[in-house]
Amino acid sequence: MTVVTLRPDRVFDSLTGQMLEDHVVVISGDRVTDVVPASTFDGPITAALPGYSLLPGLIDVHTHLAVPLDDGQGFASIVKRSGAEDALLGVKHARETIDAGFTTVRDIGPWRAFIDIALHQAIDAGWVTGPRMACAGAFVTCPGGGGDITGLAVDIDDVLPRDLRFGVTSGVDEMRANVRQIFRFGADFIKVLATGAVLTAGTRPGAPEFTEDELRAAVETASEAGSYVAAHAHGTEGIKRAVRAGVRSIEHGSMLDDEAIALMADNGTYLVADLYDGDYILEHGPTLGYSDEVMEKSRQTTDVQRVGFRKAIEAGVRLAFGSDAAVIPHGIQARQFSLYVEHGLTPSQAIRSATRWAAELMGWEDRVGSMSPGTYADLIGVAGNPLDDISILEDVPLVMKGGDWVAAPGG
Ligand SMILES: [Zn+2]
Repeated sequence: MTVVTLRPDRVFDSLTGQMLEDHVVVISGDRVTDVVPASTFDGPITAALPGYSLLPGLIDVHTHLAVPLDDGQGFASIVKRSGAEDALLGVKHARETIDAGFTTVRDIGPWRAFIDIALHQAIDAGWVTGPRMACAGAFVTCPGGGGDITGLAVDIDDVLPRDLRFGVTSGVDEMRANVRQIFRFGADFIKVLATGAVLTAGTRPGAPEFTEDELRAAVETASEAGSYVAAHAHGTEGIKRAVRAGVRSIEHGSMLDDEAIALMADNGTYLVADLYDGDYILEHGPTLGYSDEVMEKSRQTTDVQRVGFRKAIEAGVRLAFGSDAAVIPHGIQARQFSLYVEHGLTPSQAIRSATRWAAELMGWEDRVGSMSPGTYADLIGVAGNPLDDISILEDVPLVMKGGDWVAAPGG
């Protein structure tokens, strides 16, 4: 087996949050086998990396790789693209994502059901270059809710293809049935939309869109399949219903109150907050063609989300890094690290949210998110120390996945 040894200036230990000085990372085949002090290592060094910090490959737990950057045109842009177009866009986005240092993503749904899973399979087969993926397969939403195709006349609405409506669900029995079908076609976990969405016309982010019983049915059925539920939830009531129903993560979490935060802390529910998106929409939304309705909903959720994020940190709520890439361009999600630090995390915690903590949310801490012996040799190198300046993670010159360089030193 090929052994590769790397000697940077610093190695980030995501288990403790410490930056280790002067260590050697030992890689055998596709796995990390050791991280040892350079003073105790007497073997050959494959690559000396002076000035660099090595970190575990980053993890984004909220991407939509097979979805183009939202253009603010609502249902029209969704129904005029074929599934093939979205799949091929996914290939481009997968490359942009791993080039940015994100070697693992939890992909939280395509518009056309199961395209994300096809992309995942293409990456695993080596046909295309991209991150490791866990896939939602489809959006589980109520009729006319966030993530549904809204705004069509009834006779047009009736003829949409099945893959654009796969997860549309009403009632407890249909919830169980649809969740089972989504696993049947290869999903790794279930994404439900527990409230309206900023970008779906006609839905209100503050409004709950499933009952607690419906959400509980999703959680129970996912749990029977050995999996879990991630809940998109902006509004306070929808967040509380989802947490009480036992979802593993709240996506966005825009309108947290003290009770919601306490519930999340008590239940160990993760908060996946896309703090950068509000800035991006405010700056670029009008140029992209966003409607006044969407711009207003974005303004309603941006500042309040940041206030809630800080309170959640102080209350000890578990966090994982999620960007909602597709709302922002794929590949620029590392800009969110600065927002996380500005709104309450230390740089070390911000990195842990995108490494160890993200892996724990996914249940993948045995394989990614740290450089523990036996994990995949997924790692990134940045020039300088990101604990001094977190923004250096926005430019990642070195990327390795499974022991192979995606972006090599001197490359
Ligand atoms: Zn999303």
